[in-house]
Amino acid sequence: MRKSVGTIRSKKVIYLDHAATSPVRPEVLKAMQPYWSEKCGNPSALYKLGLEAKLAIDNARTAIANTLFCRPEELVFTAGGSESINLAILGTARAYRTSCSSPNIREARRGIKTKRGHIITSSIEHHAVLRSISALKKEGFDITQIGVNKEGVINIDELKKAIRPDTFLVSLMYANNEIGTIEPISVVGKIIQAENSKRSLATRHSPLVTILFHTDACQAAGFLELNVDKLHVDLLSLNGSKIYGPKQTGCLYVRKGIKLEPIIYGGGQENNLRSGTENVPGIVGFAKALELAQTSREKEGQRQTQLRDYFITKIQKIIPSLKLNGPLPNSTKHKSSAHRLPNNINISFANVDGEALVLYLDAYNIYASTGSACTSNSADPSHVLAAIGLEEKYIKGAVRFTLGESTTKADIDQVLQVLPRLVAKIRTMKTI
Ligand SMILES: *Cc1c(COP(=O)(O)O)cnc(C)c1O
Repeated sequence: MRKSVGTIRSKKVIYLDHAATSPVRPEVLKAMQPYWSEKCGNPSALYKLGLEAKLAIDNARTAIANTLFCRPEELVFTAGGSESINLAILGTARAYRTSCSSPNIREARRGIKTKRGHIITSSIEHHAVLRSISALKKEGFDITQIGVNKEGVINIDELKKAIRPDTFLVSLMYANNEIGTIEPISVVGKIIQAENSKRSLATRHSPLVTILFHTDACQAAGFLELNVDKLHVDLLSLNGSKIYGPKQTGCLYVRKGIKLEPIIYGGGQENNLRSGTENVPGIVGFAKALELAQTSREKEGQRQTQLRDYFITKIQKIIPSLKLNGPLPNSTKHKSSAHRLPNNINISFANVDGEALVLYLDAYNIYASTGSACTSNSADPSHVLAAIGLEEKYIKGAVRFTLGESTTKADIDQVLQVLPRLVAKIRTMKTI
């Protein structure tokens, strides 16, 4: 039940949940438009209408490859970020299992414990990663989850120690969707590269598998560089819905030479890795969205960083007993060593139920969320906030505001006006 509380209501919709999904840009809609109807051909068809659709996909692939500094044939279009992640994780695991299902005695002596192999991930990944990996655990793979510090940055030493001779996959996110922490992906990439060259030298007589490095870049594409060589990644997942593109669009970058088993079988589209008639308008829209996001990322990043820090500085002054979750903004007195996504604000209000606050804000047409949109269907407390060691009383009171291209200072001022009253109201109701 969503009723209005209080008398003042802003009419303007203030959407501050861009990390959950973003509106589709008009330019993206325009680019997609012809492919719904007049250019509706199946890309596999031989006639002109089919070739036209195929050409549209080829152009989209080339444009994305230019952004990622990879080859067009290294990209697989998927229906969104979750599918891209599932393909990366399940696909490598299944390819690995068939090629390396039984460690020989020598390998066993060197510490290879399982037949299936070992995967490393972190405790703050998106559920698409965590649950794909849990599924593999049931199939007999061994998993290590490394921890993070209180700003949400992965522990590099823990990662180095976790690497075993039978480790074949490391999956770590580029930027966190709940608290905005940007992870040191290229540093990890270099560590894995060094480990791989050590392996190829030391084990010539009984070669170990190389470690593949996958990153979930779904939250990063709007603000960060996506050069796969600079990041030293082998697999990278992207989606359209976080970058003003259509939902259920995305892709997986797969470095040349890496073998994957598909997770969807059928007509063999996308180089046999993702069967099914291609989502031509979706692919066209996704490519356009990525191009525009990357063109504007620096300018928008700076603008949103300013708004973010303005919000954080003000809110800390006007509302007592709150806590900023994730890295501190660099503009504050206490400089943080970690970096935060320009659009992410995650705040815990003590003695406030975050869900109640989200619903009260809704009555004012202000849209925020409790941490992750993907967990909000369940009553489970955020695994990310638990991983950064946040106390119980703050975990329940967390609300995430994620800014976007349409967010203005006036929007933030409006939120700053409404929020203190609502927090106070919820806190008084609690004590009655
Ligand atoms: C949204 C998101 C996903 C899932 O993407 P979908 O397109 O919704 O499937 C995965 N990882 C992160 C970090 C995300 O923010």
